[in-house]
Amino acid sequence: MSTATCGRLAPSPTGAQHVGNARTYLVAWLSARSRGGAIALRIEDIDASRVKPGSAEQAVADLRWLGLDWDGEPVIQTARLAHHEAALEVLKRAELVYPCTCTRADIAAAASAPHAGEEVTYPGTCAHRCVADALRLRSEGRSFAWRFRVTEDVPFTDLFVGEQRIDIRHTGGDFVVWKNHGGPAYQLAVVVDDGAAGVTEVVRGDDLIPSTPRQLLLYRALGLPAPRFAHIPLVIGEDGRRLAKRHGGTRLAALRDAGVSAEAVVGLLAWSCGWLDRPEPVAARELLPRFRLESIPRTPFALTATTLQRVGLS
Ligand code: GLU
Ligand code: ZN
Repeated sequence: MSTATCGRLAPSPTGAQHVGNARTYLVAWLSARSRGGAIALRIEDIDASRVKPGSAEQAVADLRWLGLDWDGEPVIQTARLAHHEAALEVLKRAELVYPCTCTRADIAAAASAPHAGEEVTYPGTCAHRCVADALRLRSEGRSFAWRFRVTEDVPFTDLFVGEQRIDIRHTGGDFVVWKNHGGPAYQLAVVVDDGAAGVTEVVRGDDLIPSTPRQLLLYRALGLPAPRFAHIPLVIGEDGRRLAKRHGGTRLAALRDAGVSAEAVVGLLAWSCGWLDRPEPVAARELLPRFRLESIPRTPFALTATTLQRVGLS
């Protein structure tokens, strides 16, 4: 049996890609390519309300500029709706999902107050329902989401952070796989699409660690082989918060427009990952022989004004 590696790049076209996104893409690309693996590119555009016109094209241009490539045509997630629907049918046939009519406010009111930074746990208000109840709800004109019944935790061994045991029954609980206003939720779409692309390795930011046990439940429920996961620390700004739009000067397109070279950005990132002694310019492909997942520091990479100046990024 073939055990060829396939990694993936999965930008969300919800705004400009920044240095933090670039670091994750670089690690994902090097991890697969350094072992002769394939790379799939998927534009994760299912969150219609957050998609910004032009940002998918921009993300593709940013990846090319960074010197990262991929195999085959980019996959547009919204074009795969029929596959997402088919997966929902599989979950329905197995009674693994139920229709949930709760609003966000209902859930917040019924759930016990979460601790700071913790997600609200779904209190199971609609868990007594079965799939057939959807017919009655529909005839009553009530809209609903489909929730996946979480009956067990799924410990997993992350390639970077090691053993993970998250009590998903008590943090988050039953989760949405199909949104109330229609369309797949992230958890379902990502599993169906990574599964179809034959992805064997998912490298992404460690903010997504809590999603992984949920996705592993879906892989199992859909009879798809699960990939391995490596969750790496995010890049944070001077204020200690995760890099985002508010740290305007770190957007890749802005850096490129300001005449910064891709090699300068890649060099900074390679240094932050422990593959270079100094943040000096380097092309992504030159890092192939230097790539080591385990040399990446365990803590977030803080991108300060001083660092940016040092490498000529500001
Ligand atoms: N599209 C997500 C993002 O850009 C990544 C999701 C994933 O890697 O599973 O944050
Ligand atoms: Zn409900």
